[in-house]
Amino acid sequence: MTEKIDFDVPEIPARIEDPGVQPHASSHLKPYRAQHQHQEALGFPGELVDGWQEKAIDKLGELTGKYRSLQVFMDSCMKCGACTDKCHYYLGTGDPNNMPVARQDLLRNVYRRYYTLPGKLFPKLVGAVDLTEDVLDQWYTYFHQCSQCRRCSVFCPVGIDTSEVSMAAREILDTVGTGQKYVNEVIGKVHRLGNNLGLPEPALADTLEGLEEDIEEEIGVPVRLPLDQAGADILLVTPSADFFAEPHVDGLIGYAKVFHQAGLSWTLSSHASEAANFGLFIGSYDNMQQVAKRIRQAALDLGVKRIVFGECGHAWRVAYNFLSTLTGPLEFLDTAFPSPQHVVEVTHNLLQSGRLQVDPSANDDKRVTYHDSCNVARGSGMGDIPGGQMLLPRQVINAVCNNFFEMPANTTGDATFCCGGGGGLLTDELIELRVKGALPRMQALQTVDKAHDITHMVAICAICKSQFAKVLPYYGFQMDQILSLHQLVGDALVWKVNEV
Ligand code: SF4
Ligand code: SF4
Repeated sequence: MTEKIDFDVPEIPARIEDPGVQPHASSHLKPYRAQHQHQEALGFPGELVDGWQEKAIDKLGELTGKYRSLQVFMDSCMKCGACTDKCHYYLGTGDPNNMPVARQDLLRNVYRRYYTLPGKLFPKLVGAVDLTEDVLDQWYTYFHQCSQCRRCSVFCPVGIDTSEVSMAAREILDTVGTGQKYVNEVIGKVHRLGNNLGLPEPALADTLEGLEEDIEEEIGVPVRLPLDQAGADILLVTPSADFFAEPHVDGLIGYAKVFHQAGLSWTLSSHASEAANFGLFIGSYDNMQQVAKRIRQAALDLGVKRIVFGECGHAWRVAYNFLSTLTGPLEFLDTAFPSPQHVVEVTHNLLQSGRLQVDPSANDDKRVTYHDSCNVARGSGMGDIPGGQMLLPRQVINAVCNNFFEMPANTTGDATFCCGGGGGLLTDELIELRVKGALPRMQALQTVDKAHDITHMVAICAICKSQFAKVLPYYGFQMDQILSLHQLVGDALVWKVNEV
């Protein structure tokens, strides 16, 4: 690790515990602000607008009117305290504004001031505050210290979802002209070029060709990664990190090997060469819809019968919950399959029906654990069984690997800890927050490592993989200890001569 760090990396504690309140501990951490061009490409004003207070207050009223859940979240907190020590950013920084209830209160106190009678008449008595520049700055800081992971909502007795509060706050910030550079720049690239990386079609075609050569060299089988192949049965929509970043690309190679061995007809699309939908992170329905519509259009243009999503947590949250709401009906797809479907569901079905030949001993050099990605675990489903999003990935791992060990139960499944880089925070200027926010997951990893000598942690989310590759070394692990689930699958496939 060559980069200079100017913060103390926390010691991994023996157990996950409240670090004690340290006021303002992370108040200096905020993402770069979006410039004119990043804002305007998304339909937002390029700088803080005149009359921003009034516009922000109006937008807050519009959002509580539009989203019934937000109105309920503003009105129903009982201040019971159950959520206070459940956020990884609080556990990693000790900053009290990273307690979920305090984060919500940054918005709630303004809501009270302008939208409740007691707040209008006796603001001090009910903790209502005016929307000032300081408050706007606090919103910018602390609503960008929430990865929208929903862990706190699991523990809230009335189900308040801080991720939705954060999305609303970010939508207000964008509306008055003070958005975040990283996320808004990425969304602009998807609108323009079809993927987060700004990868044009010729570069994508070259990359896929190179991967085909690598696979053939590795296993002696001509596995194809087709692009824009009209008439294919399956459109695979995957995070663009899968095209070249480690360990993501090994996951893409794994999907290709699975499709090849099962004899499935599939294609990628240069028009929809991105599964990620960062519109979710800024709560912008319009941008989320525009990004999602590329997928329906690509599916129609290519004449596919199925849409399958690769390993991307928030993309699956968006796709699973509301792809057809965003894009319009997907009535042209084959109703014999879920639409959309996750690649883990595809592989799971193929394994169950004996259409994949696997030898789990091929992974005997690995002792793995599994990180439940927040957006999959708490924001989606898989298969047609409750909790399938937790079960199916584990059943696939157990089918292709003999050495699988769980992290402690209070850190997995729907209680999983965020990687620390989700929700649009995977940007270099937030590295201190990302490292500190990863602390609870690192503690759980260290626990299972001490008991079982773990070599790798497996994930099915592109952001988790990028985040862990970056932060694992801060805690004494190696960056290549994070793996794509489909790398494990691909490595366990057994190839016969007639498949060559
Ligand atoms: S949604 Fe996640 S990141 Fe946001 S406050 Fe809750 S636990 Fe923290
Ligand atoms: S757990 Fe829910 S009700 Fe209790 S303080 Fe937190 S947000 Fe409020």
